[in-house]
Amino acid sequence: MSINALIVDSSKYNREMLENMLTAIGVNCVVRETGKEALERDGGRQYDFIIVSRHLEDVGAELFLVRFREHHYIDDALTIMLTAETVEDVYYEANKAGYKLVFNKKDFPAIERFLLEAVNNRTIDLKARILYIEDNKSVADLTSTLLRGYRATVKHVLDVASAIEAFQQQEFDLIITDYYLDGDGTGDDLISYVRDYEDFDKARIPILVLSMESNQSKRTSFLRNGANDYIIKPYDNDELIARASNLIAHKKLFEQFRKQQQELLKLAMSDQLTGLYNRRSLFDIGPKYLIDAVRHQYPVSLLVIDIDHFKAVNDNYGHAKGDVVLKKMGEVMQASCRHGDFVARFGGEEFVILLTHCGQADAMMKAEVLRKNIAESRPDDIVVTASIGVAELALDDDLDALFGKADLAVYKAKDLGRNRVEQYVNDESK
Ligand code: GH3
Ligand code: MG
Ligand code: MG
Ligand code: MG
Repeated sequence: MSINALIVDSSKYNREMLENMLTAIGVNCVVRETGKEALERDGGRQYDFIIVSRHLEDVGAELFLVRFREHHYIDDALTIMLTAETVEDVYYEANKAGYKLVFNKKDFPAIERFLLEAVNNRTIDLKARILYIEDNKSVADLTSTLLRGYRATVKHVLDVASAIEAFQQQEFDLIITDYYLDGDGTGDDLISYVRDYEDFDKARIPILVLSMESNQSKRTSFLRNGANDYIIKPYDNDELIARASNLIAHKKLFEQFRKQQQELLKLAMSDQLTGLYNRRSLFDIGPKYLIDAVRHQYPVSLLVIDIDHFKAVNDNYGHAKGDVVLKKMGEVMQASCRHGDFVARFGGEEFVILLTHCGQADAMMKAEVLRKNIAESRPDDIVVTASIGVAELALDDDLDALFGKADLAVYKAKDLGRNRVEQYVNDESK
């Protein structure tokens, strides 16, 4: 990773000092004498450091940065003003113009120390989205600058209410919160809110408390209430970065694990060949469809679809072609259904579809459409037909009972010549 600096200074001596120093620690430098030159020529590059002397010959450093920012994204850069005046005297104006740091030109060792450390830090990468709650603005500025120096994106807010709003609307990798805050609510309230949040993954976000609390048992209570870690203010920069980076690394690891777990679950629930749900998931998820339907009083129907003379497809074209046909059947079924319907390969050349908000008559019509779609699909020019049994859920049916009814109807369709739809009729079960 290359590190870039823009140096704008009217003094030749200063330019050379800075350039030599930065080059020695591996930083690429662009060096300009005037603001105009830099404004005209040095945009479009990502700078890690923008170092500007306060009194340029053509423009003040404040105006320079405002102008430069109008055309270039520099939020990730450490902007530094060098001044011959006392730092305290110019800090306010410099900060307002967007400088994160101000150094006295004569204090060269301090500048050198700072830049050396900043360059070293660039190799630690926080690359994370941090929600930061702190009601003390100067502490907040310092901490935000520190974190941004490590490439974190920092959203700073002043109170619990704004933090909650940001948390709801955006994704973050870490929350850093002050404990005692202005306005209603303390860090504890925020922690409780986050940990009870409805979205399980969001509720697990790591939380680091920054507090001046001197009471040990109070500090322990942060952890008990759901914080992952705490640091006592005034904090040490390296410690804050190290703890924040640990928490973020932990979160990323956990996310990786969750993703893997979800993929495995999906794999376990789906049929390898067709990508439809498999038999296991039918008995896992199916009952919930039925319970919801009974509770909310809407109809559900079930189709059992059995491919006709499928053995002959295998015998005539080979097992591999048979697989191609089954895969295509899966696609036809999925395409013939609505989003909320549940399509599963029950086994072999048998499929099951649960149709929600669908009574017997509608289910018969849908089954007929599906039968036609299958007959017209002709995968690889092979004529394929299916027999379909239809049953609507009755009040005291469970999934087994409902399936049994539709299965009886399939037998009937087979008996009556195949490539047809039959419905379960009550007295046939006796
Ligand atoms: P029917 O019209 O009475 O349903 O006749 P059928 O031949 O479709 O029924 P049967 O149950 O006798 O045969 C089903 C065949 O499906 C037998 C089996 O080899 C084949 N089969 C089951 N699973 C697969 C599979 O995953 N791939 C392939 N290619 N064939 C399969
Ligand atoms: Mg506070
Ligand atoms: Mg069969
Ligand atoms: Mg069959």
